[in-house]
Amino acid sequence: MRMPHTALACAALLLTPAAAPPPQDQASIERQFDAAIHPDDLRGWMKTMAAEPNQVGSPHDRANADFELNLFKQWGWDAHIEPFEVLYPTPIAEALELTAPAKFTATLQEPAVAGDATSARTAGALPAYVAYQGDGDVTAPLVYVNYGMPDDYKTLYRLGIDVRGKIVIARYGQGWRGLKPKLAQDHGAIGCIIYSDPANDGYGVAKPYPDGPGRPPHGIQRGSVADMTIYPGDPLTPGVGATRDAKRLTRAEATTILKIPVLPISYADAQHFLAPLEGPVAPEAWRGALPITYHIGPGPATAHLMVKSEWGMKTIYDVIASIRGSDYPDQWIVRGNHHDGWVFGASDPLSGQVALMAEAQAIGGLLKQGIRPKRTLVYASWDAEEPMLVGSTEWAETHAEDLKKHALIYINSDENERGTLAVGGSPDFQHLVAGVAADVMDPETNVPVGTRERASLRVEALEPDASPRIVAAAAAAAEPGRDVPLAPLGSGSDFSTFLQHLGLPALDVTYEGEGELGGVYHSAYDTFEFHSRFVDPGFIYDSLLAKTVGRLVLRSANRALPQQRASDFADAVTTYLAEVKKLADTERRQAETQASLLHDHAFALAADPTKPGRPPKPLDMVPYFEFAPLDNAIARLRRSAHAYDAALAKNGPTLPTDRLARLQAKMLTIDQTLAPEEGLPGRPWYKNLVFAPGRFTGYGAKTLPGVREAIEDRRWGDADRYARLTAAALNAYSDRLEEARATLEEDY
Ligand SMILES: [Zn+2]
Repeated sequence: MRMPHTALACAALLLTPAAAPPPQDQASIERQFDAAIHPDDLRGWMKTMAAEPNQVGSPHDRANADFELNLFKQWGWDAHIEPFEVLYPTPIAEALELTAPAKFTATLQEPAVAGDATSARTAGALPAYVAYQGDGDVTAPLVYVNYGMPDDYKTLYRLGIDVRGKIVIARYGQGWRGLKPKLAQDHGAIGCIIYSDPANDGYGVAKPYPDGPGRPPHGIQRGSVADMTIYPGDPLTPGVGATRDAKRLTRAEATTILKIPVLPISYADAQHFLAPLEGPVAPEAWRGALPITYHIGPGPATAHLMVKSEWGMKTIYDVIASIRGSDYPDQWIVRGNHHDGWVFGASDPLSGQVALMAEAQAIGGLLKQGIRPKRTLVYASWDAEEPMLVGSTEWAETHAEDLKKHALIYINSDENERGTLAVGGSPDFQHLVAGVAADVMDPETNVPVGTRERASLRVEALEPDASPRIVAAAAAAAEPGRDVPLAPLGSGSDFSTFLQHLGLPALDVTYEGEGELGGVYHSAYDTFEFHSRFVDPGFIYDSLLAKTVGRLVLRSANRALPQQRASDFADAVTTYLAEVKKLADTERRQAETQASLLHDHAFALAADPTKPGRPPKPLDMVPYFEFAPLDNAIARLRRSAHAYDAALAKNGPTLPTDRLARLQAKMLTIDQTLAPEEGLPGRPWYKNLVFAPGRFTGYGAKTLPGVREAIEDRRWGDADRYARLTAAALNAYSDRLEEARATLEEDY
């Protein structure tokens, strides 16, 4: 495999301009960058790349990688394709039938819709499928499990309904797709069907496509069910790159592959399986928008479910392009977006991909005028994100040592749409994001995108179900002098391995909220036609994404002083610990309340005696935890952070070159102190002790996950142990800050 820095050395020889250009200020560089972003370019690239199915292993996926490679080269980047060999199953046979009380065969098909020529070009597309399900051939009574999340199983327990030996049917929503079959399997089910209820993204929300952006009756949400809560990427090569000669697990050893067969279906099909269910009527919160009475079962509806896959190795194609930095070539800004889709992938992922391409073209244009970024840029177009972040994970694992030494930040995007700016990521980079948000203008309201973001957070916080995080963000947004806090990152796109395995800081950037793409998500209707009509007409917000991320990249590349503002990180961690303490208190109170209700037989007395039911399983009592190490570490972090920020503001601008170099070296890798080798309990691939995807939320983030999840999962010993480990990581961060401050203050 070609290492990035070898490629970069060649780039320097090829691209160094003959005469040094006049120095340019950042604002004029950004004006020239903006002038090179043309919505028609983005439209044209998407039209080409979304013309045929482009899932992993398809000819068009490979063609798209070559298409981008040639463009990067034309634009003056040093570019190559880096392939990996990964386990990627493809379906060869599948069936789903209702066998009792009537017969029905699921169509598992997505017919073309009027006015969308692309939707007819499904030759070579994947059928209804979820990757890394378990294959199998089973027949059993059905049980409707609502969203199939942990609380739904608690409700089933109270109703006395057992899913052992049954096939569960769950609706999409409320939690990551892969948790539904995993929890079904853990509860003893032998098969799992996941369907899209019209209440969530169909006619309950909008007129179905093509009349509106709602999910059409036969629309199917594909996806991955690989258990990424243990590790993402190729199931056979956790922790190492899936190069040709990598050491591999066997398929049986790979813990991220499920054991039971799973199929996703449309609501047109699902209605035939749900309507004949009997047993208790589903609780109100479980009812969707189908014209039936929702019953839970089990049976008498009985289904036959069969999935058989070809479990071969496939080659995937990451496109890697770089420009060597003029002043700090050993400090890298890494920027990525994936190029593979489930079918045509217009909105997901190509809307973000064409923004990345527009940035690359504009930066190439600057280079031709002699304007070279000061740090090295590495632009990546990932393959195989959809099966479970495979292209980015394998690349990051292959180049882990170089990335830990050189990468200053990873900046990600994925699907994009009309709407307001939303950025998640490492809190120490919040001020960088706020600066960019203040300078990019929203094309529909003619105010800075940051101003719109602040307004929408403040309005969102008025909703009765607004989360504590939104309420806190709204409070910050109301004060013009404060920056909007970044949402913590869990998983669901290519930032995960950089942030959570390597410990690099990461940002994930999108415009969202007004594009109405939920109804075609991961279906054959996520087309160029749909995107142009409902998601981003005119490619205005995809172009805006390029202007936004381009600024984040160029400012990170060109500013000599470190971008981190340590007090923002300290404030964020302070909030996270307060949440964890509150969680412990709430859990303790709930266990005490429940014990008293059980003692008084209150559940039995309050229930309808003519209906089946039983009290909940007793919760064990919640002890008091040893939070002192964390309290002390965070108090120290706050002091160190404020002192560092003050020293940087005072002495940074006049720092001599040699000390600047030492300061940069200390701050370049500081976030990695938060990701010690030990990793999280039961899933040591995840090293970051501040951010992780939740074991039972999937894409949703858990902050201080070692402690927080130990309390949620009632692993009391782990809570105390991870309070100490997390405190040690925060102390290592403070150590580094204090060294950086000493460098800033040496002569004063
Ligand atoms: Zn995507």
